[in-house]
Amino acid sequence: SDHLLEYPIGPNHMDWHKLYPALIPSEAETSTDEAKQVEIVDIGCGFGGLLVSLATEFPDKLILGMEIRVQVSHYVEDRIIALRQQHAPEGKYNNIAVLRANAMKFLPNFFKKGQLSKMFFCFPDPHFKIRKHKARIVTSTLASEYAYLLRPGGIIYTITDVLDLHQWMVRHLEAHALFRRLPKEWEDEDPCVKIMRKDTEEGKKVERNKGDKWIACFVRLDHPE
Ligand code: SAM
Repeated sequence: SDHLLEYPIGPNHMDWHKLYPALIPSEAETSTDEAKQVEIVDIGCGFGGLLVSLATEFPDKLILGMEIRVQVSHYVEDRIIALRQQHAPEGKYNNIAVLRANAMKFLPNFFKKGQLSKMFFCFPDPHFKIRKHKARIVTSTLASEYAYLLRPGGIIYTITDVLDLHQWMVRHLEAHALFRRLPKEWEDEDPCVKIMRKDTEEGKKVERNKGDKWIACFVRLDHPE
């Protein structure tokens, strides 16, 4: 159950220094407004494969994985600490962190309007049964929340091995006036699409089982179309 999860009353009340100690000074040292902010989020990050690859792809950006399962989030935390220690001389992996959170609730408590440039939804839980569809991580209501958090030009990335879920995500995001689906040619050129195909744990599993991977990416528009 997630009713014991803690969340800040607003983005400025979050202790980001705790998550990115090498890159964000503690509150005592600076005002939160000058501090670097999280720009990329991996929703339901699982065991953190995507985060680890994004860390080196975007060394100057702060990247956050959100994961609801406590043991899994602890695993990712340990994984990141180990990587930071291993690569201490080069200062790598200080830009990734994991937060145990229910991403379907309270995202605007963590991030400000237009703060994010990329949101990843990699192999989200399919919730096959019709009465469970409302638990899916992309719905019309949540699409509006994602549009609020993403800056114009920001990207939503989705990948799944479940065709029905792919079609569901495409339908809900295409129906939203602030998102436009990007063409296949764009997907073929984008480095993050390559990363989410091959570096997520779930993507590797699907690869081993020779399953399909359905991808859809959406740009956050400046104005409703
Ligand atoms: N993205 C990872 C990957 O591709 O390897 C993990 C995919 S796994 C099938 C889905 C993950 O989403 C699980 O780790 C699950 O605990 C997490 N999850 C499900 N609902 C969530 C929510 N509301 N908030 C945060 N994480 C969630």
